[in-house]
Amino acid sequence: MHEVEMMQNILNIAVNRAEEEGAQHIRLVHMRVGEVSGIVPDSLQLAFDVAKAGTMAENSRLEIEYLPVRCYCPNCNLEFQPLDQLYQCPQCHQPYCEVRQGKECELAFLEVS
Ligand SMILES: [Zn+2]
Repeated sequence: MHEVEMMQNILNIAVNRAEEEGAQHIRLVHMRVGEVSGIVPDSLQLAFDVAKAGTMAENSRLEIEYLPVRCYCPNCNLEFQPLDQLYQCPQCHQPYCEVRQGKECELAFLEVS
């Protein structure tokens, strides 16, 4: 399962950070997940439960913040929220503009003790 592997990477980073701070336990793991990251939220929670077992994050909670898609049109120098899968610029109607936000799947911050 792809999500478990990814969650193990996230937790590795989390544990390293917590250890650097001299923490004993991780209480909360806050992640940012983009709308088009390809990650299924339910499987993320499941993967988290699998990956945290036996680590200092064992009793921690996962918090997920969802980021909507933001695109950028170089013609108009405009950042916008696309209305459909074409990522079309609302001003010049150019399709498939650059996705600037929405593909994230990253660790944002931790709460440790
Ligand atoms: Zn445009």
